[in-house]
Amino acid sequence: MNILVLNCGSSSVKYQFINPDTHKVLAQGAVERIGMSGAVLRNKRHDGDEIAISGEILDHAIAIDYILAVLLSKNHGVIKEKREIKAVGHRVVHGGETFTRSVLIDNDVVKGIRDNIELAPLHNPHNLRGITACLNHLPDTPQVAVFDTAFHQKMPAHAYLYGIPYSLYRRYKIRRYGFHGTSHRYITERAALLMEKPLDSLKLITCHLGNGCSMAAIDGGVSIDTTMGFTPLEGLLMGTRSGDMDPSVILYIMAKEELGSSEANALLNKHSGLMGISGVSSDMRDVMEEAQEGNKQAAAAFNIFCYRIKKYIGAYSAALNGLDAIIFTGGIGENSPEVREKSLSGLSYLGVHIDESLNTSTEKEKSITTPDSSVSVYVIPTNEELMIALDTMTIVQEEEKAVV
Ligand code: ADP
Repeated sequence: MNILVLNCGSSSVKYQFINPDTHKVLAQGAVERIGMSGAVLRNKRHDGDEIAISGEILDHAIAIDYILAVLLSKNHGVIKEKREIKAVGHRVVHGGETFTRSVLIDNDVVKGIRDNIELAPLHNPHNLRGITACLNHLPDTPQVAVFDTAFHQKMPAHAYLYGIPYSLYRRYKIRRYGFHGTSHRYITERAALLMEKPLDSLKLITCHLGNGCSMAAIDGGVSIDTTMGFTPLEGLLMGTRSGDMDPSVILYIMAKEELGSSEANALLNKHSGLMGISGVSSDMRDVMEEAQEGNKQAAAAFNIFCYRIKKYIGAYSAALNGLDAIIFTGGIGENSPEVREKSLSGLSYLGVHIDESLNTSTEKEKSITTPDSSVSVYVIPTNEELMIALDTMTIVQEEEKAVV
């Protein structure tokens, strides 16, 4: 069974064509600059064949035409007929309170995603465009929606409610939702496999550290708290986002600098975080390099980044009433021994003991703790596309069984 996994952004569609049984990626690529000049599809086949196709790719429907054409292409493709695409799995950013798990897409689901546009105006409309295009291009192929927020929907009310009038939650659904759910779920399940322990017996803290960063407390496979909130702005310091701060700060800055709400939004989302503090870059590699060369602001950015992670490890081990493992993923989590070491320093009281040579080894998926560490620490490369493909396969198989 081969699954097409789609991730539709405002001007791009990323895709992978995966066999979820073997985990093999048969083809992958992206259409970029949709609706702009210089639009291009780049495809890479499993055997290394690569192709770039430029064209007038005016919208998501045309982008998906291009993707289907390359998958079916005689010279660069991997299938002969459309029906070899058994199902399509769509990444959808916001499922609100409507969706607590991945679902087979029908008219009600499309409406549900549309109803949640207000919560993710920059993402859900593009996700919907991809879904609509696929429903038109592949009307007989099942489509599944996999939500970034769904994994966190079992959080208890004391973790998701904010200290503002309850009527605002009722009226506008203002609450913590959390994001990166597919990644947190993938590394949670993978950690249980590596630990050879049943998931429902484990207390885990997962750290997804990429350009956006979030952590989650996972009790028995259920996310009971997470650092991102109503939007992906809350919590950890990120590439360009501030993370946690006193909300009055922004009101004060708005008054002092005479900023409107969209400028304030840009300040917090695009000009803060590693970028804002270091004044150098939003990229952790640049920040670390500058810090090494004696740039104090860059050093401060690195230290704040790691300190927040450590602070949340403390908070979440309390929320979990114990801890079996901490898992790192994402571009920074997977590749930076320095960030792991700094964030985990001084946690011996919790039973975290890092083995320096394991931490710095080039192995991609690994445990980095000493044998006497009562809390294990793992580095696990995330694979959201595989998780989406696996969910899609499971749901399609459940449906087929239900029909029989
Ligand atoms: P996205 O969230 O956009 O998917 P990634 O997960 O690719 O992003 O993470 C990007 C971040 O990973 C950047 O800050 C980049 O500097 C960081 N990163 C990648 N490789 C390394 C490395 N070797 N050391 C430190 N940071 C790294």
